[in-house]
Amino acid sequence: MSLISVVIPIYNERDSLAELISRLQAALREESVELLFVDDGSTDGSAKLLQSLQHTVPGLRLVQLSRNFGHQRAITAGLDLARGDAVVVMDGDLQDPPEVVPALIAKWRDGFDVVYGVRATRRGEGVAKRSLAWAYYRLLQAASPLDLPTDAGDFRLLSRRALIEVRKLREQARYLRGITSWIGFPQASVTFDRAPRRAGTSGYPWMQSTSLALDGLLSFSPWPPRILMLSGALALLLGLVWAGIAVGQQAGLFPAPSVPSPVIAPLILCSSGAQLLGLSLLATYARRILDEALDRPLYVIASDQCPAPTLQNRSMDPGETAAAPNLSAKVALPTRSGPPSGESGTMQEQPFPRPPP
Ligand code: UDP
Ligand code: MG
Repeated sequence: MSLISVVIPIYNERDSLAELISRLQAALREESVELLFVDDGSTDGSAKLLQSLQHTVPGLRLVQLSRNFGHQRAITAGLDLARGDAVVVMDGDLQDPPEVVPALIAKWRDGFDVVYGVRATRRGEGVAKRSLAWAYYRLLQAASPLDLPTDAGDFRLLSRRALIEVRKLREQARYLRGITSWIGFPQASVTFDRAPRRAGTSGYPWMQSTSLALDGLLSFSPWPPRILMLSGALALLLGLVWAGIAVGQQAGLFPAPSVPSPVIAPLILCSSGAQLLGLSLLATYARRILDEALDRPLYVIASDQCPAPTLQNRSMDPGETAAAPNLSAKVALPTRSGPPSGESGTMQEQPFPRPPP
């Protein structure tokens, strides 16, 4: 029977966890499941609660990062460590309903490698956030040569072969929605109603949302530098026309009205603003180049608590032993040059415990 890994990044979600787990167990009753929680530096006791549940919830695995690395990197850690034949990524605040997961799995069984959830409605989110998200997804789709689905977040399923390819993309500015589209393979969607957050507050303040949106645009669209070039060309053209008019006036060729002086100051401000914007775009690209050159690991694992029966499994490095107390030191994580070395399939797979009915 195939194993389904469910990767759930967690940042201060203690009050949602019990319901999330019981609804996942109910929804995936028929499946063999690994529930891989990645604790992204929670400070509300989420990790402690998950540890206490490990004895009663079959297949619950807790990976703790050494600090808060952010949503995209927490998901990346989960994808790197997941052992399933298919991997589902979902949020831990119950905005992605567990009851939709079987529909993702059904599409995977129909032969699709990437199955993403498309949000038909977004309950519990303000008008400003919904409108901006609506506009952003459409802008990105229009600006990217890739077929980036609109209204789809990170709630999605990846087949094993899609997962292996996603692991190879180690860019620092991570926009996983783009990465999973970039890899290609047959892709399908499942429409669902996004629920309101179950408890707590969003870990995505405006700054982080904007930064993620920028990462999407800068990584998956060639248009930002092109727009810079086009605006430069337009400004040059306007300047030349203006210069022509001024010269014509001076030579007395035609009596054109002079530019009223109140317009001059705003024009100068606009042009220096546009130049600063262009400069900041260049600085952003330079910063991204520096980040890539530094080549820091995408996250640091503080601990990885696997349920015992699955320790000998194929995502582990062949040199790894089941007795390793802390996998962070030994597990073979993907590098720039490729995915984890345990992908060769030489390790024997162990049966995964089924959740109780
Ligand atoms: N999250 C995370 N690290 C962070 C912020 C969020 O792992 O730094 C998790 C969070 O616990 C949730 C998911 O990422 O499971 C989505 O975050 P959130 O619900 O805050 O984002 P929103 O739905 O408001 O966009
Ligand atoms: Mg949320």
